[in-house]
Amino acid sequence: MRPLIAGNWKMHGMAAQLREIEAMSKTVHAARTAADVLICVPAALLSRAASIAAGRIGIGGEDCHAQASGAYTGDCSADMLKDAGATTMNAGHSDRRKYHGETDAMVAAKAEPARRAGLTTIICIGETQAQRDGGNALAVCGQQIAGSVPTDLARSGTIAIAYEPLSAIGSGHVPAPGQIIEVHRKIRECLLERAGAAGADIRILYGGSVWSDNVHDILGLADVDGVLIGGASLLA
Ligand code: PEP
Repeated sequence: MRPLIAGNWKMHGMAAQLREIEAMSKTVHAARTAADVLICVPAALLSRAASIAAGRIGIGGEDCHAQASGAYTGDCSADMLKDAGATTMNAGHSDRRKYHGETDAMVAAKAEPARRAGLTTIICIGETQAQRDGGNALAVCGQQIAGSVPTDLARSGTIAIAYEPLSAIGSGHVPAPGQIIEVHRKIRECLLERAGAAGADIRILYGGSVWSDNVHDILGLADVDGVLIGGASLLA
């Protein structure tokens, strides 16, 4: 499977950082990179980033509202992200789950309008350290897949999954390879159960403290079809 290297700028980035999108998209284009490259940016930068990237790399949104329009001040719909030039969006990032109380059902409700808008949705899941310490990591990830990935979408080929164990995000602590392999294998099993054979084609990304010095090793692990990179994607 062609890997996806995705960046997540979170709530960082001003117009000046768009120069990095320009440089990166030119490099990726010239090098004919053997991977798809995507940068998810704050909504305020989306249309300018998409215009600068000019289709050489993908530009994604970081979230959307489940409704197409309405009295939801401050929110953005999937159609709006698409209209601004996004190809993809994140749903259920742990920041959204933590600070906005997003549940699996809310994540699932965003993925369907994203599909209708023509966006691929990267659905983020991952266990807390307490859940891992309690021996529940695989069960938690399985439940998150069951709750946040609509079956139709799994079959439609318009989603990717990002496994981001919470203890790894922004901490510099990457889990042992065996942990990543074990959880990705579990996610693959869940996707095959939900989507049948189509589940084999869904990309499963790893996210959490991916940097230039560990990205190659992580990409070499079984069932790792790409990476979701936060902090390191902000460095030129
Ligand atoms: C993230 O925010 O999704 C993430 C993985 O962050 P970091 O790479 O900084 O751990």
